[in-house]
Amino acid sequence: MKSLAATLLIALLAGCATQGGIDKTYTAKGQGSRVRFLVLHYTVADKPASIKILTEQQVSAHYLLTDDASPTIYGLVDETRSAYHAGNSSWKGYTQLNNSSIGIEIVNAGWKDTPQGRVYAPFPQTQIDALIPLVKDIVARHGILPENVVAHSDIAPLRKQDPGPMFPWYQLAQAGLIVWPDANRVAAVRQVFDVQVPDAVWFQKKLAAHGYGVTQSGVFDQPTRTTIAAFQMKYRPANIAGEPDAETAAMLEVLTTPANAPLPPVPPAPIPEMRPVQPTQPVDPVQPIQPVQPVQPVQPLPPGTPTTPPTPPNTPPVA
Ligand SMILES: [Zn+2]
Repeated sequence: MKSLAATLLIALLAGCATQGGIDKTYTAKGQGSRVRFLVLHYTVADKPASIKILTEQQVSAHYLLTDDASPTIYGLVDETRSAYHAGNSSWKGYTQLNNSSIGIEIVNAGWKDTPQGRVYAPFPQTQIDALIPLVKDIVARHGILPENVVAHSDIAPLRKQDPGPMFPWYQLAQAGLIVWPDANRVAAVRQVFDVQVPDAVWFQKKLAAHGYGVTQSGVFDQPTRTTIAAFQMKYRPANIAGEPDAETAAMLEVLTTPANAPLPPVPPAPIPEMRPVQPTQPVDPVQPIQPVQPVQPVQPLPPGTPTTPPTPPNTPPVA
C-alpha cells in the first residue's frame, strides 16, 4: 500500500485532474451520507443564554432555532462534523448518536412545576413554520428516513424529556417528516386492546421494534414506564403519565406492523401475581393434655362363650 504522499506525488507527476492534490477522476457508486438521524431538542434557556451555552460550552448542536417573531436559524456546527447534542443515546440498535446525527436546538423554556402540576412552554407557530423547511432540507440532503427523525427523549428517554409534549409532532407528520399511526387502524386495534391491555413483555418488544433502547425486563418497571411516557409525549401528549393503556398499545401496534396487517388477537389475561403471605397471628400455646383416666382392665370372658371366627387373610373386598 502506497503512502498518501506517494500517491499524491504520482498523481501530480502524471498531471491528472486534481482537486486539492486528490485526483477526482473517479466517483464510487456505493456511498451514502454518514448522517442517519435527525434529533430535535429544546434549550430550556432564552436566546442569549442558548447562544452562549451552545457556542462556549462543550454541548453543541448543528443548528439553533430562535423564538423571535421572525425566527433566526443559526448554523453552529458544519453538517460534515459532529455536534455534541445526543450524549448517551440509542435508536433502532444504533448507539452514541452524536456521530451519526444532525441536532437542532429549539429555543424554548421547557417546563416548570406549579401547584397545578408540571407546565410546559408552548412553541410559537412562527418557530414551527421556520423549523419544518429546515428539517425538510436536511432529511432530503442526507436521505434520513421519517422513522429516524426523533426527539432527544426518544434516544435517551431515561435522561431527557425534550422537546416535550408541547412540541407539535403532528405538524411534522403532516409534512411527511415523521411516521404517524393511521387513526382508523388505531381505533380498530384499540377495540381489541380495550378488552385486555397487553403485558409488559409485549410493550417492551414493541417499544424496541419502534426504536427505543428499552431493557426487556418482562415487568412494568420504572424505565419501561418512562419510555412509554416518551412515546406518549410524541404521539399521545394528552396523557403522558407512562401508563400502559389500550390507546398507547394500539398506536404502538399500528406503528410496528404493516398497513394491511390483520387485527391482533386479544392478549391473554395476565396471571395474577402471587400475593405475599400475611404473617399469621401467634398461635395460642397448646393446652396441656389432661391425664387420661386409667382404663379398666378387660374382664376375661367366662369359659365356653362363643367367639366370632377370625377373618381369613386376603379376603377380597366387597364389590
Ligand atoms: Zn436535548
